[in-house]
Amino acid sequence: MPHTYDPTNIFARILRGEIPNKTVIETDHTLAFHDIRPLAPHHVLVIPKGPYVTFDHFALEATEAERADFVAAIGTVCRDHGIQPGEGGSGYRAISNAGDDGVQEVPHLHMHILSGRMLGRMVAKPTA
Ligand code: 5GP
Repeated sequence: MPHTYDPTNIFARILRGEIPNKTVIETDHTLAFHDIRPLAPHHVLVIPKGPYVTFDHFALEATEAERADFVAAIGTVCRDHGIQPGEGGSGYRAISNAGDDGVQEVPHLHMHILSGRMLGRMVAKPTA
């Protein structure tokens, strides 16, 4: 099934400058900004500037330059927040929700970078 991008989504509007954001870094192909409802002391969203709905969409259809830039931006965010475990930081979680089962709210690829507290297990177990 093709990925259909909705250009009215909130992150597209942020990229067009229609809605303000608290920018962390901006590069040629990527924007990182603070989540408006942080779930950890540090909660940054990293998004490509191109019209990609989900991570798989981006992985399959983005250019080499876009992919390299996005990955590098995630590294920069982790480095600048001092959260890299290998460098003495206390760690982080990178999450990209996709589709209905992934409970994706905004249909523009975003990587959540959460850090600054113990984040618990990766996925909640079903209760029933
Ligand atoms: P999702 O559930 O799609 O993985 O996450 C969407 C995220 O976008 C949520 O964590 C939500 O708080 C964040 N968000 C939604 N609207 C805005 C906004 O207008 N500005 C910012 N900075 N974050 C937003």
